[in-house]
Amino acid sequence: MESLNNLPIVVIGAGPVGLAAAAHLLERGLEPLIFEAGPTAGAAIEQWRHVRLFSPWRYNLDAAAVRLLEGTGWASPRLTALPYGGDLIDHYLTPLATLPEVSSRLTTGARVVSVTRAGLDKTHSRHHEATPFTVRVEHADGETRDHTVAGVIDASGTWSTRNPLGTSGLPALGEDTAAERISSPLPDVTGRDRESFAGRRALVVGAGHSAANTLISLADLAKEAPGTRILWAVRGTSAEKAYGGGDADGLPARGQLGFRLRRLVQAGTIELHTGFGITSLTTLDAHVSVAATDGRVLDADVVVPCTGFRPDLDILRELRLDLDPAVEAPRELGPLIDPEFHSCGTVAPHGARLLAHPEQDFYIVGMKSYGRAPTFLLATGYEQVRSVAAALAGDRAAADTVHLELPETGVCSAGAGTSCDVPATATAAAAAPSAEAGCCPAPEPVLVGFPTGLAHGRSGDH
Ligand SMILES: Cc1cc2nc3c(=O)[nH]c(=O)nc-3n(C[C@H](O)[C@H](O)[C@H](O)COP(=O)(O)OP(=O)(O)OC[C@H]3O[C@@H](n4cnc5c(N)ncnc54)[C@H](O)[C@@H]3O)c2cc1C
Repeated sequence: MESLNNLPIVVIGAGPVGLAAAAHLLERGLEPLIFEAGPTAGAAIEQWRHVRLFSPWRYNLDAAAVRLLEGTGWASPRLTALPYGGDLIDHYLTPLATLPEVSSRLTTGARVVSVTRAGLDKTHSRHHEATPFTVRVEHADGETRDHTVAGVIDASGTWSTRNPLGTSGLPALGEDTAAERISSPLPDVTGRDRESFAGRRALVVGAGHSAANTLISLADLAKEAPGTRILWAVRGTSAEKAYGGGDADGLPARGQLGFRLRRLVQAGTIELHTGFGITSLTTLDAHVSVAATDGRVLDADVVVPCTGFRPDLDILRELRLDLDPAVEAPRELGPLIDPEFHSCGTVAPHGARLLAHPEQDFYIVGMKSYGRAPTFLLATGYEQVRSVAAALAGDRAAADTVHLELPETGVCSAGAGTSCDVPATATAAAAAPSAEAGCCPAPEPVLVGFPTGLAHGRSGDH
């Protein structure tokens, strides 16, 4: 058996967090092998390149990645500016992915389809931890290859697995056959996808930032394209949550989005349907009929599913994972971000210890580490991968010293005017004298994140 020390570490996904993981591994003298399913780095963000981020550049750059870029002629963007998804790709991810140190270790068009221990299935315990991983990859040339590696960092995000439209977590009846009438979760309605929306009836489903963005863009389109009708269905009894925390939002751009949305609904530009839990879709010749559990029906030409995302756990089937049963995040992280109780968008900084699974040297990081919770921020992910790279390098002290490298304005503490409603387990964690524990009730540790200005998670909905 090859010595684990000489083997590379696979990074699944070349999004911002995967590339940051690679940069941290390189700094640690470890050998990353990055597999990206899409044709380029940042392939998921490419799908929403027209959407503006609500956090400014300073929170969207990873420190180790910047250290790699500095000295190569790369011009740092203005740190206070708010980039579009496309800017993140063009001015950060592409320059990073094309650096020789990174490009020589990055394979695009390479989809990881499973991860296991070489020669052992999940049930075999003997020599389990001393056995390298096998990562099976489907390459764009049609070949499938197995790679033997010492560790795996799964930074594959959640973009490719959106939540279904149906209320029960399953696709609504008829959802699969209506696929042609369902758009991507964040269509570019005034640009790339204009034709599908101009002069047509669009039904936007969901109450998060993606819904808000799409609804506002549709309102812009409606000004130019007569006959464009905008329907908005939310499951809750009000759309208050979608309007956000306004002035109390730690990210003003996010607060502004809510203000504009509320005005458009009040003006009648957007036709809001609350309490609309979807039960079925019926595809007809000219449109699709979307039925709610209470019998109401909305007809639309195209449905935009802003229903959130969930992690693809199938590729990890042969690994020993320890996940929160509700959120599908690492067990100890789950209660801190559970959308049922928590909407403040802040979380104690956390690293390898909190992200660990029974499967040693395997970590889920980035958007996927939050499971079904929608509040992930890049700044949190960058701290995750710094700590994970330290742990994989055997530097336990650095892995466990979770840094707070965010400036004061990007950090909300208990007194910052927000409130997070956390379940008892998280509150108990806050009381523990651990650098990784905590949420609002304790003055220390300070939380990383940006208050949304919303007091409650879903459990606060009426
Ligand atoms: C519209 C929108 C706006 C957002 N705005 C902000 C913001 O303002 N600030 C903020 O901090 N965060 C924001 N986020 C949240 C989050 O930071 C982003 O989703 C970010 O892209 C997550 O980075 P990631 O690297 O974890 O995942 P991704 O960017 O999704 O990257 C994952 C990569 O893995 C690849 N991949 C997937 N499956 C496989 C596989 N099996 N094998 C190989 N490769 C695979 C994908 O193609 C993709 O390139 C936003 C998210 C969205 C959707």
